[in-house]
Amino acid sequence: MKVNPAYKTKEDLVELYNTPLMELLYKAATVHREHHNPLEVQMSSLLSIKTGGCPEDCGYCPQAARYHTDVNAQKLMSVESVIEQAKNAKANGSSRLCMGAAWRNIRDNRDFDNVIQMVQAVNGLDMEVCCTLGMMSDEQAKRLKNAGLYAYNHNLDTSEDYYDDIISTREYQDRLSTIDNAKNAGISVCSGGIIGMGESIEDRMGLLMSYIKMDTPPESIPINALVPVEGTPMADQKVVEIWEMVRMVATTRIVFPESVVRLSAGRTSMSKEGQALCFMAGASSIFAGDMLLTTPNPEFNEDKELFEILGLKPKAPFQDGEKPESKTDELIEEKKKKAAAREKELAEARANSEKNSDFAPRKVVSAK
Ligand code: SF4
Repeated sequence: MKVNPAYKTKEDLVELYNTPLMELLYKAATVHREHHNPLEVQMSSLLSIKTGGCPEDCGYCPQAARYHTDVNAQKLMSVESVIEQAKNAKANGSSRLCMGAAWRNIRDNRDFDNVIQMVQAVNGLDMEVCCTLGMMSDEQAKRLKNAGLYAYNHNLDTSEDYYDDIISTREYQDRLSTIDNAKNAGISVCSGGIIGMGESIEDRMGLLMSYIKMDTPPESIPINALVPVEGTPMADQKVVEIWEMVRMVATTRIVFPESVVRLSAGRTSMSKEGQALCFMAGASSIFAGDMLLTTPNPEFNEDKELFEILGLKPKAPFQDGEKPESKTDELIEEKKKKAAAREKELAEARANSEKNSDFAPRKVVSAK
């Protein structure tokens, strides 16, 4: 992935963002055509595999346990349910399944073993598998890669300067470290931000500057419009104007010509015409399906209709990278062997105790 060498500083980006809209749109559409097939849109389905009860305090998120929202905490989904949902998403045109868990970070426990099995299973369906599970160590990244993970999503959300206004329970550097761990494991990176959280244009461009400063920018950059949810500190934020979304998509497209720019949360409040402008501005991916973790999203049918009107078609999987191989997970295998050995010991102990119990059953003498 490369960065457009014409844009080096935040000032350059702010100037680009403020270009007269029609000019900006034309420039972005031109860059888009030079690097992508403008009639193809990658469709990802986002599935919440573990909803709510998150200990973090992201000001926009209804899944944070500390905010009083309609989201009820649920346990991790079963591997079987995930497979069923993945098949449904694939049948509706999605080439990627992104599994999200409301965790601060991945823990090396049974839940993570189950996620490993989900990744193996969905990769087996010939879909690109993405996870968004919070902070991740390098060892955990290697395990996920080994299971067949294609991409890891970890958004920076906003600029480093504005970050503390949104989240206080972890640092910007923590986010950058997780992104590095994904990259080092050979996992494709999906990382972007949210606009409409009260940030300035400089903050929006500060987010893009964070990606410019990386060795290589993310393969996929989701641009979300805040969906204000009652009960969160951002409940009263104004809904983002479509023009702001178009400018943000266009600027991202021009600065990162090779990356996938993903039109993410906030599509339900956009008209068909507004979304068409975003595709024109270089959006090359959407999240499909009626829910985005816990916020509403257009139904598959609505997107089919929109694609027909605009003459767009869903992109096939693994066009931008090879399908990863799902290898055996050593830790799960070791645990299975230990469980089998324990089971065998117990069975032997039971057999021995039955063999040695030829004595007459003990008589219970009742007390007088
Ligand atoms: S955005 Fe993620 S980490 Fe932040 S509160 Fe929501 S679920 Fe937790």
